[in-house]
Amino acid sequence: MQEYDRRNHEPGDVAPDLLTRFAALDGKIEAHRYERLAVYAETIVSSGRDKAAERFPELSAHLDACSDCRVVVDETVAFIMEAEPSG
Ligand SMILES: [Zn+2]
Repeated sequence: MQEYDRRNHEPGDVAPDLLTRFAALDGKIEAHRYERLAVYAETIVSSGRDKAAERFPELSAHLDACSDCRVVVDETVAFIMEAEPSG
């Protein structure tokens, strides 16, 4: 038995797959921003939206104005929740 079907299910770790997913979602968003959005989404999952907004005020303000990024964050939150049912 040499199957590694659990390799992409490390809790608390944003898999590189996620970045590829963002790229597919919206190719015009710059790569470094995916990482910030991923961190923001992880903070929402672990601490709630209020804490995420407190910790990343600039990003929070941007999300208020930018529906594209909001969709990315929401998708990522849903993706992390699926991966971590205890969320
Ligand atoms: Zn944006």
